[in-house]
Amino acid sequence: MNNTNDFYDLIIIGGGPAGLTAGIYAARAKLKTLLLEKGLPGGQISTTEYVENYPGFPNVIKGQELAQKMEAQAKQFGLEISLLSKATSLKKKDGAFEIKVNNKGSYFAKTIIIATGAFPAKLNIPGEKELTGRGVSYCATCDGAFFKDKKVIVAGGGNAAIEEALFLTRFASEIFIIHRRDQFRADKILQERILKDKKIKLILDSKIKEILGTSKVEGCIVRNKKSGDESKIAIDGIFVYIGSVPNTSFVKGVLELNNEGYIVTNDELQTSLPGIFAAGDVRQNKLKQVAVAVGEGALAGVSAQRYLEKMKNKNL
Ligand code: NAP
Repeated sequence: MNNTNDFYDLIIIGGGPAGLTAGIYAARAKLKTLLLEKGLPGGQISTTEYVENYPGFPNVIKGQELAQKMEAQAKQFGLEISLLSKATSLKKKDGAFEIKVNNKGSYFAKTIIIATGAFPAKLNIPGEKELTGRGVSYCATCDGAFFKDKKVIVAGGGNAAIEEALFLTRFASEIFIIHRRDQFRADKILQERILKDKKIKLILDSKIKEILGTSKVEGCIVRNKKSGDESKIAIDGIFVYIGSVPNTSFVKGVLELNNEGYIVTNDELQTSLPGIFAAGDVRQNKLKQVAVAVGEGALAGVSAQRYLEKMKNKNL
């Protein structure tokens, strides 16, 4: 062990809505708690322009503002947060858990909550990797303004794709939503909005086969899945919103994961290893929403407290 300062009752890995809520509950229960966050707090809501389905904000709230409010509330109760701290491995050691953190050595805790969320899935097509940052983007909130009066594509048909296409109408002159089916997964209220927007055009039953361009995106080849026809579209940017991949590589082989890599838990959000809990988008659950992540963060925080009480009683 490094020193006693590095030994906590609870370490929360991930500073999105689930992790910050778990932190609020743990800090209010006076547990010695550390939250490790690989970047800045907020998780995926930080790159969302507006959140309009999280209760309590009838006039909508900016994603970043909501994240800042959650962080401020957690800190107010004394939660310790370590930024730029990416967990690279997790294992049981001497009756506690050891977390290795990039460039910062090891931290130890009696119990752990994993709330590391998910990152955007890739199309895995020619041109995508080479042109990322040169017209290929996974964050309209971050990069949308670079596409003023330009033509862009949004790939996907879920809530994220539709919301971000609507956001891009502020900048782009034309937005093509390319979706592999003729039915959208997105909420009906969002679908209605895109149908009313003159800048948005739908290309359905189609997949992007290749992204074209040398130093920047110049176009792409789109294949209609039903007819097999291929067409070339001249565009300046592509925003990819085709779902997410969980951040679980550091617990592969340590915890039970489902086929897609999400962490499997019981009703108390305990993972396959007693003492380790999971909450939010990283967990195998039915709905990826801020409201759900917050609820799971609260439950994981309380489950961790109950686990610590049980361990204490056993030692008496
Ligand atoms: P999602 O709901 O899983 O939708 C992914 C979309 O990408 C689907 O339309 C899917 O097509 C398509 N897709 C998947 N793989 C593809 C591939 N290889 N090539 C082309 N298309 C592909 O993901 P999301 O939109 O990122 O949202 C993730 C979660 O966050 C969801 O639970 C969502 O509800 C939530 N979210 C909520 C809000 C909100 O409530 N306002 C905003 C953003 C995200 P198919 O439909 O054919 O499978």
